Amino acid sequence: MIPNTNYGNLKDSYLFYNIAQKTKAYIEKNPGKRLLRLGIGDVSQPLCPAVVEALKKGVEEQAKIETFHGYMPECGAPFLREAIAAHYEKRCIELDADEVFVSSGASDELGDILDLFGHGKTVLIPEPAYPAYVDANIMAGNTIVHLPSGRDNGFLPEPPENGGIDVIYICSPNNPTGAVFNREKLKKWVDYANKTQAVILFDAAYEAFIEEEDIPHSIYEIEGAKTCAIEICSLSKTAGFTGTRCGYTVVPKALMRGSMNLNSMWVRNRTTKTNGISYILQRGAAAVFTDEGQKQIHETLSIYKKNAKTLMSALNEAGLWFTGGKNAPYIWAQCPDNMDSWTFFDKLLNEIQVVATPGEGFGECGKKYIRFTTFGNPADTEEASRRIKELLK
Ligand code: PLP
Repeated sequence: MIPNTNYGNLKDSYLFYNIAQKTKAYIEKNPGKRLLRLGIGDVSQPLCPAVVEALKKGVEEQAKIETFHGYMPECGAPFLREAIAAHYEKRCIELDADEVFVSSGASDELGDILDLFGHGKTVLIPEPAYPAYVDANIMAGNTIVHLPSGRDNGFLPEPPENGGIDVIYICSPNNPTGAVFNREKLKKWVDYANKTQAVILFDAAYEAFIEEEDIPHSIYEIEGAKTCAIEICSLSKTAGFTGTRCGYTVVPKALMRGSMNLNSMWVRNRTTKTNGISYILQRGAAAVFTDEGQKQIHETLSIYKKNAKTLMSALNEAGLWFTGGKNAPYIWAQCPDNMDSWTFFDKLLNEIQVVATPGEGFGECGKKYIRFTTFGNPADTEEASRRIKELLK
């Protein structure tokens, strides 16, 4: 038996491993020194009270015979699918509840959704990019077309001239660059996909961080998107669900390729490959979409936004060029003095005990950049900002 040989084409995932090794070695050599971690994309603030209450209530319901739930519907509980559809309606996007699929998170979906396309497809990945896009497609045996972006286009690349692309990943607000597509720029991608019959996988994991009015939170704010795009979203960063796990995916009924309807295909996929998400978690997730839940999650997000302001002002004073921070929890800064990203990483670690993420880990075109996250605790972010200013002045 020969297993999936595509796994042999995966590059060692050395980015986070290397960061962990380097920080471990530093701590061993410098016992007692505390690191200020602005590297990892995990959140630091807990679930909001409305979610916690709903989770507890869900547990209590599962403890009584009268309110106990066994298997949940594979595509999601109607109450949650409806709550999410109603949330979209606030942005004037009309969705039927059965166009919304409840998931255990965006990572799972970004890989699983490739089932819809079969193997051997051509997939366009604008870079720098979230590393899972590349690896999931290598495992699936797809051909990857890397579309590099840079400072010249604000890390917001335009569609290519040619067709021949089956699937396109777009992440806005972007991880790692924090860049966001405005309506005009996103419309170009929607028009391209409709014209060439490609399908866009729109990763909206960071939509809740958008502050500016004219930046779309959802690709369905763009005319024509329902015939070319699947949207994948997550409560991980929006509502602190990284360790709790819940997300959602929108597959519009209007999305057809050939004679096949992708919504029906995804229903068939989910009903075959999952037994749904736990009732308790779905109750917790539904609380995010209540007025109280929305108010509370935005209070938490404002902590991260304050971190972003602190860091941005330090980078401005230090004279570093950067994108992100405004509508996104990531800040993507150009390394000083033409340094490469690992050299700057080492400098930050060894001289001021700040841990960031080297841009090279997100693709070749990230080599001269570094990513800071704003998910850390505020006191550490303030101290790190002060040290960065001091180091680079
Ligand atoms: N998409 C992007 C761009 C991300 O940065 C992340 C997590 O960092 C995810 C998806 C995964 O989110 P989840 O926790 O829902 O799996």
